[in-house]
Amino acid sequence: MNNDIQEVLFDQANIHDAAVRLGQQITQDYAGEKPVVLSVLKGAYLWTADLLREVDLYIDLEFINVSSYHGGVKSTDEITLVTDIRSDIMGRQVIILEDIVDTGQSLLFMKALLAKRGAASIKVATLLDKKAGRKVDIEADYVGFNVRNEFVVGYGLDYKELYRNLPYVGILKKEVYTK
Ligand code: 5GP
Ligand code: MG
Ligand code: MG
Repeated sequence: MNNDIQEVLFDQANIHDAAVRLGQQITQDYAGEKPVVLSVLKGAYLWTADLLREVDLYIDLEFINVSSYHGGVKSTDEITLVTDIRSDIMGRQVIILEDIVDTGQSLLFMKALLAKRGAASIKVATLLDKKAGRKVDIEADYVGFNVRNEFVVGYGLDYKELYRNLPYVGILKKEVYTK
């Protein structure tokens, strides 16, 4: 599996530092609040585990599954809600946890859904921000790292459901998906 990686961009130590930095910010920004943390499956599973252990707040943890990739290496414009949350978010402060923001379309979809359901505030904490991929005007509030316009895998991010268990984020060799 490691042989399919062209270049490691962020290793475990880098990611841990980002989790500590953002965890402290979130702890300060939400002091005295009890936010709902909405983790976006499957990509954010490791980021959720690592980031939240650096957050010193009472939180409700929920999971949502939205899909935009449908197996390829490019986002599609069609976002599907695969698994919804069950709890009521009316009047709650919501923090969405994402692995990566690319076109921004999944975020736009989720923010609209949460706003419609009466969330009091909605912020986004993403491990990676691929700004060059943006198609809609939306920004994350907390960003671990900016990433260049390459298809990356690892630390939760997949290609055809593989590579999520790599402990780092790296660029997938093009030959893996072009053959
Ligand atoms: P967006 O809707 O912002 O285009 O895409 C969001 C989702 O697409 C991310 O949460 C992630 O699941 C997937 N995605 C975007 N860029 C990449 C990438 O470089 N690698 C992988 N594995 N998934 C990506
Ligand atoms: Mg995602
Ligand atoms: Mg994916």
